[in-house]
Amino acid sequence: DSTRFVKGNPKAVLVVEWSGTQRELDEIFGHLDELAGEAGALAATPLRTKEEMSQTVRLRKSTLPLLLGTADEEKPVAFVEDAAVPPDRLEEFVVRFEEIVENNGTWACFYGHASVGCLHVRPALDTSDPEGVSRMRRIAEEVADLVVDCGGSISGEHGDGLSRSEFMEKMYGGEILRAFADVKRLFDPRGMMNPGVIVAPPRMDRQLRIGPGRKRLPIRTGLSFGDQGGFAKAIELCNGSGFCRKRTGGTMCPSYMVTLDEQDTTRARANMLRSVIEGTLPPEELTGRRMKEVMDLCVGCKACKTECPSGVDVASMKTEVLYQTGRQHGFSLRQKAAGHIRRQLALAAMIPSPYNAVAGTRFARRAAALAGIDPRRSLPRVANKTFSRRFPGLPQGTGPAEVALFNDTWNEYQRPEVGEGAVRLLAAAGARIYLPKVVCCGRPMLSEGLVDEARKNARRNLDLLVPLVERGVPLVGLEPSCILTLRDDYRKLIPDDARVERFAEATRLFEEAMLDLDGELLLREGAPVLLHGHCHQKALVGTGPTERLLGLAADVEVVDSGCCGMAGLFGYEKGHYEVSMKMGERRLFPAVRGAGERVVVAPGTSCREQILDGTQRRALHPAEYLAPLLDGSS
Ligand code: SF4
Ligand code: SF4
Repeated sequence: DSTRFVKGNPKAVLVVEWSGTQRELDEIFGHLDELAGEAGALAATPLRTKEEMSQTVRLRKSTLPLLLGTADEEKPVAFVEDAAVPPDRLEEFVVRFEEIVENNGTWACFYGHASVGCLHVRPALDTSDPEGVSRMRRIAEEVADLVVDCGGSISGEHGDGLSRSEFMEKMYGGEILRAFADVKRLFDPRGMMNPGVIVAPPRMDRQLRIGPGRKRLPIRTGLSFGDQGGFAKAIELCNGSGFCRKRTGGTMCPSYMVTLDEQDTTRARANMLRSVIEGTLPPEELTGRRMKEVMDLCVGCKACKTECPSGVDVASMKTEVLYQTGRQHGFSLRQKAAGHIRRQLALAAMIPSPYNAVAGTRFARRAAALAGIDPRRSLPRVANKTFSRRFPGLPQGTGPAEVALFNDTWNEYQRPEVGEGAVRLLAAAGARIYLPKVVCCGRPMLSEGLVDEARKNARRNLDLLVPLVERGVPLVGLEPSCILTLRDDYRKLIPDDARVERFAEATRLFEEAMLDLDGELLLREGAPVLLHGHCHQKALVGTGPTERLLGLAADVEVVDSGCCGMAGLFGYEKGHYEVSMKMGERRLFPAVRGAGERVVVAPGTSCREQILDGTQRRALHPAEYLAPLLDGSS
């Protein structure tokens, strides 16, 4: 999808951005082919709408995870990754840089900012092999000479760090470096701050994150990390750059954003795991107290999988750690109860009125506290009539399209109004709706480390749903977490089952499915909307489809709200309440409080619970918001 704009099979792509008045832009775009021809390009593609332009951003964002995701021993290594030269020397720089890489018997992908002559290049090397380290050193020396020769800077965008400091003298000369050292000594006479960086650096190949003699503890994992070359390689994807320490924008990493403690970063979690698999810490630390502490505040939001430049997937690693810990020391009552929440709610739904009456009492909260639920949280209530019992009375559509609705736990037992709205909308858009008798997708089990149980459920859902999928019927889900589990986690649960890929491809979020349907949807204009996207939705498809669907009836503003803090059952657990509320308070709660007349829409069930607890405002699922706007509904 991110390369749709690329014509043919070019060796390089140049993205050029223009700004100006509509007339000026029309003029430029009118001569685009001519301009491209003059620049020696094979073809040019005009990208004018936000949607069209977003392809280039997606391409840029997917580059590094794609490169780093290779299962080869030789992986792109960051040590000459942001050299910059005057733009008029860029062509010469690229050619000579390529020669250096080739002469050292490896390859590299070049990308960067042509307008400022800055290139991000990571030659592929295996630094656990002494030969790989020698080649790295030769490349570093030759590139440093090349940069100086071209009048550039060895580190044009990032810091100098341990990998570049050794070569600073080539750039600045001895006199200036001695002045740096004098100034540093004045402020840091004992050399405690950033030792070895810029002043008195060690050789760049001395303190390698992954160096010769590296060990890897063999671990029989419950989840498959085969797509990243195995558990150890998935952990080693973290290069320590610390982008996960950002404090604003995006979602990664919600725990660090509120505690500002290194221990609560994505990096710390990957580092802790690396220490165990490399043998710096004893193997029992994998399931020990310190690992538990480092993993504790990871909410499993999956933001790192998409926002970390290396695609480090700590949410899956946390599941693996919980699985290993549970196998070693047993699973707690709270973990079992939370993992099998569908079963608990099914029992409660057999006696909804008495259950709801009891769930609202202080006694029930105290009892739940014994099982590890924070007493300040309201316990989940159940609907008087489940969704599957309401479904026969709903308009199930006549087609021509067909869809199968994944009846998730929350829709079935807690908020069947969401499913009712979705069915009405899907039918109005020209779909015939089936309601297969699915089991829980397995997400609550994965959050608690109950991997074997989640795998069983995955198999049962596949057996039930694949025949429909093979008939060309898409599977539509209302809850972003469930859809992420079906699309993404099933690959980790049952990697050898060939059906998983077809199943993942046929799975759609409700909003995506609605946009795929051809029927004309007649909607009245609705009140403006403030939209909060669920973390798993943002990691999977972004908020674009939800925004577009809601946009058919209303003005929509998307809040850059990060994680709401509830994250499934995370916010319910004892010891997490304060952190959970702080996560919500960072951006989401203030935005909701300031929403005024706008309707707050949030596709995730736990986000809606958190919004209610934090602001006392009831948020709606997109289907709940849109269904009453259908022409003909009152
Ligand atoms: S987790 Fe990702 S962002 Fe954080 S240090 Fe590692 S590679 Fe960098
Ligand atoms: S899953 Fe979320 S909370 Fe956990 S490390 Fe990744 S970004 Fe941080």
